Amino acid sequence: MVTTTLMVTDLVRQVGGEGVRVEGLMGPGVDPHLYKAAPSDLLKLQRADAIFYNGLMLEGKMADLFTRLARTKQHVYAITASVPPDQLLQPPAFEGHPDPHVWFDVALWSRCVDAVVDGLAAADPSNRAAYVARGAEVRTRLAGLHAWALAKAGELPAERRILITSHDAYNYFGRAYGFQVIGLQGISTVSEAALSDMAQLVDFIRTKGVKAIFVESSVPHATIERIAEDAKVRIGGELFSDAMGTPGQMENGYDLGSYEGMVKHNLTTMVEALK
Ligand SMILES: [Zn+2]
Repeated sequence: MVTTTLMVTDLVRQVGGEGVRVEGLMGPGVDPHLYKAAPSDLLKLQRADAIFYNGLMLEGKMADLFTRLARTKQHVYAITASVPPDQLLQPPAFEGHPDPHVWFDVALWSRCVDAVVDGLAAADPSNRAAYVARGAEVRTRLAGLHAWALAKAGELPAERRILITSHDAYNYFGRAYGFQVIGLQGISTVSEAALSDMAQLVDFIRTKGVKAIFVESSVPHATIERIAEDAKVRIGGELFSDAMGTPGQMENGYDLGSYEGMVKHNLTTMVEALK
């Protein structure tokens, strides 16, 4: 199986279990909006038994490639296809496209399990029962993680739940866990922040008395650092947005290279810095 982002890779591995070989194309710190398939990736994609990607234009430079692959190959799946359309956000900045960053609402990400189970079962029908069973286990674990995240967010009073970061990756996060979210770049990291936006943000930070703003692991830090300086506010830490950490890199007992570790790292970092 071939996958794209670490979040998709992690989910397909969990539902697939030990018997399924999963190769992710994008490693830690890689920006999926900008990622272009290398010739070696094309070879892997062409040879894959099945391909799983996020979809909703997250892998913006690979979208045409997936459409072409889907014409010639049987098992090509955008895992966000099993998220009910009425659950998708469509912020104006996204110019008519749904926001692709669904993994930041753990309950919504759990809806993607269905697409992974169906895809694995279609590519490997003899193990269907095992995929269905593991899919149910994964959904249970994600329900637990969602409850943890709600409780963690609840440690902050509502007026302190203001999340300011480099790009608009956290809209679903904000909706699920009650944060007002401001991203300096639009939906994708392709466009750069305009100076007027930066000045507005500095004003906003001062007026609201925001205690910290955040950099992202897969987006250059310069703009946020500049705003922190101008607004005289500290940088509360580095969040994972479109990529996770390195597998095996431990923090407070959780693996930053896992989806669960990413969610826990992000929320803990925000809550500690904004308290
Ligand atoms: Zn993004």
